[in-house]
Amino acid sequence: MNRNSPPSLMPTYAPFDVAFERGEGAYLYDSEGKKYLDFASGIAVTSLGHAHPHLVKALCEQAGKLWHTSNMYRIPEQKRLADRLVEVTCFDSLFFTNSGVEAMECALKLIRKYHYERGDTGRFRVISFTNAFHGRSLATIAAAKSEKLTKGFGPLPEGFDQVPFLDIEAVRAAITEETAAILIETVQGEGGILPVEPDDLKKLRELTDEYGLLLVLDEIQCGMGRTGRLFAFEWSDIEPDIIAVAKGIGGGFPIGACLAKAHVATAFKPGSHGTTYGGNPMAMAVGNAVLDEILKPGFLDSVVAISQLLRQGLEELKARHSDLITDVRGLGLMIGVEMATPARPLLEALIEEGMLAAAAGKKVIRLLPPLIITKTEVKEALEKLDRVLDAASKN
Ligand SMILES: *Cc1c(COP(=O)(O)O)cnc(C)c1O
Repeated sequence: MNRNSPPSLMPTYAPFDVAFERGEGAYLYDSEGKKYLDFASGIAVTSLGHAHPHLVKALCEQAGKLWHTSNMYRIPEQKRLADRLVEVTCFDSLFFTNSGVEAMECALKLIRKYHYERGDTGRFRVISFTNAFHGRSLATIAAAKSEKLTKGFGPLPEGFDQVPFLDIEAVRAAITEETAAILIETVQGEGGILPVEPDDLKKLRELTDEYGLLLVLDEIQCGMGRTGRLFAFEWSDIEPDIIAVAKGIGGGFPIGACLAKAHVATAFKPGSHGTTYGGNPMAMAVGNAVLDEILKPGFLDSVVAISQLLRQGLEELKARHSDLITDVRGLGLMIGVEMATPARPLLEALIEEGMLAAAAGKKVIRLLPPLIITKTEVKEALEKLDRVLDAASKN
């Protein structure tokens, strides 16, 4: 055997040493039947929990009828989901993709096409922020700029200017005649769970209005009910021109979408953009089922209520473990618990304890429970965290 031969899977991940066989609601089970309380939700994806009956039914029924036809033909369920999303948001038109990065890529292309169609062909640069994460394509790593994402992948696409996170004066100073848009995650996810306050969103909106730029929000992680509103920007008074959505929109089926206001969306014409799979019948059956649940009266209010309970419990944990927890922050059920020590060993200890959470950066434990968690599950999570932190303090 060639001793340089790589593993059959390219070694791009460093997974925890655990695999799951099935899931139900907020729990996952491994092959030995051990139960795990899932506060990672596959990185904010399985927002309605695992094996949700309404989603399973929608998927199974669709699987027996039709999987894929391509966008060469009309896809009624795609139109239905688009109509419904337009109905409940400030956006007028959207494009379906299979992932978050594709939704971002669509947004980035739409920014350029919008200015081009207006005859403003010199406007193509996008202002982004430190610590951002927008996906792993060449354009989106160019927007994020961090060495971790970009090293070894140059030369990167032109046209991304980065300023310190939420430094509004730096944004103003970075605007030139070539600037086309400002791009920001409404709540920074991978960067450590840092929400943009409504006041700052307003200042960004004012800047974009003043200079004729587009305001583009990445709500791939924080959208679709995660913060207790359908989209996180809805906690403010502003309306963006474009948003990118994914993760929770499919509840575990790969779906993304780029939503835009009318004046922007009309820049795309037949042939401007496309995808083979995006918005296929399987994805749309699940997407419609997810929306059925999220739009149920009271659903988002219950997300707010349960998130307050979790947040309060975490504040109490912080008081009890002030040696270990340095900050608790976030919005709704997107919560960061910043630690004084690296997060990874704590996440491993949590797995032993039967609970899953994610990391954000090196020192933040990211809690992204399903939006359907109950008080009992919140209590269980707090107890498990408490035990793990107790053990960590003793070491
Ligand atoms: C996950 C994520 C992406 C990338 O989505 P993929 O589906 O992994 O391509 C982009 N932006 C944000 C904020 C994300 O959380």
